[in-house]
Amino acid sequence: MCGVFGVFGLEGAERYAYFGIYALQHRGQESVGIAVSDGSTIKLVRKAGLVLEAIKAQDLEGVRGNAAIAHVRYSTAGDSGFINAQPFYRETSLGPVAVVHNGNLVNYGTLRKELEEKGYAFQHSSDTELFLILLEDGEYVPPHVDLHPKDRDLLPRIFYVMRRVKGAYSLLYLFPDKMVAVRDPMGFRPLLMGRIGQGILFSSESCSFDILRGQLWRELRPGEVLVVDSAGIRSYFPFPHSRTAMCIFELVYFSKPESYVLEHWVYHVRKRMGQELAREDKVEADVVIPVPDSGVVPALGYSQETGIPFEMGLIRNHYVGRSFIEPTQELRDIKVLMKLSPNRAVLEGKRVVVIDDSLVRGTTSKKIVSMLKSAGAKEVHLRIASPPVIGPCFYGIDTPTREELIANRMSLEDIRKFTGADTLRYLSLEGLRRCVHHPEKFCDACFSNLYPVEVEETASRIR
Ligand code: SF4
Repeated sequence: MCGVFGVFGLEGAERYAYFGIYALQHRGQESVGIAVSDGSTIKLVRKAGLVLEAIKAQDLEGVRGNAAIAHVRYSTAGDSGFINAQPFYRETSLGPVAVVHNGNLVNYGTLRKELEEKGYAFQHSSDTELFLILLEDGEYVPPHVDLHPKDRDLLPRIFYVMRRVKGAYSLLYLFPDKMVAVRDPMGFRPLLMGRIGQGILFSSESCSFDILRGQLWRELRPGEVLVVDSAGIRSYFPFPHSRTAMCIFELVYFSKPESYVLEHWVYHVRKRMGQELAREDKVEADVVIPVPDSGVVPALGYSQETGIPFEMGLIRNHYVGRSFIEPTQELRDIKVLMKLSPNRAVLEGKRVVVIDDSLVRGTTSKKIVSMLKSAGAKEVHLRIASPPVIGPCFYGIDTPTREELIANRMSLEDIRKFTGADTLRYLSLEGLRRCVHHPEKFCDACFSNLYPVEVEETASRIR
């Protein structure tokens, strides 16, 4: 999982990129990078770690310009080492190009083998490199597309790339004099466009525009290619509309609650998840408490629907990062204990409904239930505001392998016993689908096992 950000047409673009990508820190914490164009050259800064700690003022001094792209990385394909920190950069026959990518390709192995056989040299072990190498490999212009004269060299290459890759990609290309934003035809990952003065912004989530005091303009549509340069903005749809498969997990967990992504305000969807869960539920309890932070909004919805008071029974220590996006299980477990403290003032002698956004391996929930009981809760009713996770993701979210998913190995009653909760209930798949407009436009494969793009190879999830 990753975050991408872009800015075009603003002096000091490197600073806008720094703050814009900082707003997406929750989407990846392994590395951060910024590529900046001054109109003729592209310069890069790439660092391991968190945005504010890794990038220093002097790093930005050396990369000044009026257009920039930026990336925060959480590895889903390729090893998690620094070698795969983005943006990726390449000198091509079109000149220098940098690219940032959010998503995961399902035919990386096949394409890489084919391109290596043709003699292309790869420098990284991540699928993102295909977006640079394929630019050199061919051209394609669909018969219905009428290219603007300024796009006749570049866009046939980008359409060719889109024709060859399969899977999820929201990406930004930076050329010395232009930026190109691309969203895959199924629209798995979000990509938003914003404005600030005369400048154009792009981001994985609208929260980047808020931090910069910019305005959300619109979301790129699935399959859209947008070119921005000194001549203006041009939009293309090179491929006929097929099925849309936006990732519902973005709304369930990954995006920030104040963001607009995938045609929804995340806050509204999360609150509906809690309300739907409450409608499907019958439990006598004294308080509803969230697992912070991602359980907070569903718990509010649950509380408002049932009338059971909302309280903060678990307090988050804000100096610890999110456990979900630590790469190893061991680190995740330690962090759960470090980041949450039980609040006895709320819990002692109470029948508690505790709401979490999802239950993946079950180990976190087990620790939370035990923590609540140790702090005096009389009963703990565990409620999950999404359905059981039964399938891995091949399109860019780091859900575990099928074997690690607890709902694949245990019955509901066995999971309840494993977590130690008095009762356990999940939101139904139908209930989750009711939380979004047009559920048919979403991928919910990790909850339903209905995969919208066939996965060609098991190696597409290199872990
Ligand atoms: S499988 Fe799940 S996490 Fe992956 S894209 Fe589909 S809904 Fe999102």
